[in-house]
Amino acid sequence: MLQRTNYLSSRYGVPDGHRIEAYLRDGGYEQAKRALGMPRKTLVDEVKAANLRGRGGAGFPMGVKWGFMPPEPKPGKPHYLVVNADEGEPGTFKDRTLMELDPHSTIEGCIIGAYGIGAHAAYVYVRDELHLSKARLWGAIEEARARGFLGPKPFGIDYTVEVYVHSGAGAYICGEETALLNSLEGKRGEPRMKPPFPAQAGAFGMPTTVNNLESIATLPTILKLGGEAFSKLSALHGMRDGGCRLFGVSGHVKTPGVFECAVGLTLRELVYDLGGGVAGGKLLAVIPGGSSTPILRHDELVDAPDPKAPLHPWHGQSVLDVPMGVDTFRGLGTMLGTCCAIVLSERACPVMAMHNLMRFYRHESCGQCTPCREGSGWLERTLDRIVGGAGTLEDLDRLHEIANNIMGNTICAFGEGTAMPALGFLRKFRREFEDFVRTHGASSPRNLAL
Ligand code: SF4
Repeated sequence: MLQRTNYLSSRYGVPDGHRIEAYLRDGGYEQAKRALGMPRKTLVDEVKAANLRGRGGAGFPMGVKWGFMPPEPKPGKPHYLVVNADEGEPGTFKDRTLMELDPHSTIEGCIIGAYGIGAHAAYVYVRDELHLSKARLWGAIEEARARGFLGPKPFGIDYTVEVYVHSGAGAYICGEETALLNSLEGKRGEPRMKPPFPAQAGAFGMPTTVNNLESIATLPTILKLGGEAFSKLSALHGMRDGGCRLFGVSGHVKTPGVFECAVGLTLRELVYDLGGGVAGGKLLAVIPGGSSTPILRHDELVDAPDPKAPLHPWHGQSVLDVPMGVDTFRGLGTMLGTCCAIVLSERACPVMAMHNLMRFYRHESCGQCTPCREGSGWLERTLDRIVGGAGTLEDLDRLHEIANNIMGNTICAFGEGTAMPALGFLRKFRREFEDFVRTHGASSPRNLAL
């Protein structure tokens, strides 16, 4: 159901909307002040009631994640909040809009989040290339500090909160929370074995919560509305998927961009109503939530529900008409991911699209695990051969086998993030892949000049 909201993006397009004066005009920092005066448990309960599923891709409930932290810091064991703004997923650019256009919502969210988990320091880890984002966050920190909202006694309340911006080095894998923590500590950005989980031993070996930047920037809205009311904004409220969020759409659409809506929007609404419709021919397929989420074809119907996912009532309908939620999309055999869709028109070649993605994943593998390091290279090289016109039908089976051997055999989810989209392309476009091989590429829409 298309329901535009204007909580997270109300200052987008406002002149000087990134400055503190604009934020204060809209009641900014009132919720941080309120939060610091609340019992911590009350704050955590509000966040749990909001049913906010993490906006970074995994969709884990934010309040539940906070609940993994020790109730209070022990002597010599400080807690840390780490905000993941290493936005590097191809097709995803929503956190960047928050940092550039409304950085104070992140700073206020950091104050609320730090207090919620018993931390006095929050680190915002920003992808290096996002220069304007970092400049806007640094500027917002200075403005907030000058007003007495950060530091030893924010708002005159005896609870120190400091916010730091840490620049990453532009590695995709540092979006994985434990690789991010290693990078924050000045080590190689490689994922850690779990356990221990960050809530036990995270940044600098201390209890840490890592939250996505949009999740953090949503905290002032959750407190303003109340957790329950925030949750009810969503058409999927009953399925524990609450509130509003930023939806992105890019690729072959007429008006790519970031749009704030209540959770429960459909892909059809995202592509046609918000994205302005398909640019350059008819719709072929949509990658729903960043490049690591398996692709959905335009003519696909909802199959028998996944026994592991909650039963949902869209069986037999077009996948384009299923509300976009963490569980509903899991039931489609894909993922909601970052909720930023990449649209492919009929002029796109699925073989070349998969080749492009696999080149990216091979380049970004950190190399710790053999199935990921070698498998991603084999996927790329096999596709090099196919795209070069020298592939065989056996190569298609080999691609399946390589991807299946990566699944479940790696330290971090990057392995699945490589294998799942590969398997998705192969399963959904088998006929197109076979035609490509048989015609040595002549069947590709890229070569047909549609
Ligand atoms: Fe590194 Fe890939 Fe292993 Fe993750 S799955 S730790 S990215 S090699």
